[in-house]
Amino acid sequence: MQNVEEILNKKQPNQKVNYDRILQKLVANWEAETTRPSILLHSCCAPCSTYSLEYLVEYADVTILFANSNIHPESEYRRRELVQKEFVEEFNKRTGSTVGFMSSPYEPNEFMRMVGAKQLQNEAEGGKRCTACFQMRLDIVAEKALEFGFDYFGSALTLSPKKNSQLINEIGLDIQKIYDVNYLPSDFKKNNGYKRSIDMCNEYDIYRQCYCGCVFAARQQGVDLKETDRAAKLFLAKK
Ligand code: SF4
Ligand code: SF4
Repeated sequence: MQNVEEILNKKQPNQKVNYDRILQKLVANWEAETTRPSILLHSCCAPCSTYSLEYLVEYADVTILFANSNIHPESEYRRRELVQKEFVEEFNKRTGSTVGFMSSPYEPNEFMRMVGAKQLQNEAEGGKRCTACFQMRLDIVAEKALEFGFDYFGSALTLSPKKNSQLINEIGLDIQKIYDVNYLPSDFKKNNGYKRSIDMCNEYDIYRQCYCGCVFAARQQGVDLKETDRAAKLFLAKK
């Protein structure tokens, strides 16, 4: 399976990389070789997985991995996990796709330990805590992709305009040097991907959370976590 470094090495150094174009080149190569690779795609809740899946299932066999021990409280984690799983099931039903779903264990202590060890509690959203958070999650995805024999690992996070997709792709490319599995570059927000994700959220009536996930960003944003916990528990109780 083609490693994206082969495409990136042909680019001029210091040139800003258009990761959407890189993905399109990879896809063109798969089509030319008539291969259909397997991809383990990280997602932290359903919205970013909507268009990402719609695009990828045309060319590859995709499994979503929900691996997000950064999310607080646990009830909200369970809610997002369930919404993600149900979206995959409904997407398969409506489109005839066979997208898989996997979930990693919820280990919030690991996230808190990492934040504490690096003194990242007071970082603003988008700062060093987020870099470490992306690394932690992509590391898990690469490890699982290797364990289960996927051709590529990637993340639907690049769909979000609030996330630094250049950084996410650079982290993914660094991680693929450690694990013997290829990173799937992406910038799913491009080509109206973000707009399409909003339409799909409406079409599928998907829950959209109001904070990224961790307790630090939630507090900085003034999110009422008691109310979040109450609403999440009520949601889960109705299921
Ligand atoms: S970036 Fe935000 S909207 Fe996208 S999957 Fe993660 S939490 Fe959900
Ligand atoms: S704001 Fe989001 S990406 Fe940043 S550390 Fe918190 S959960 Fe992770």
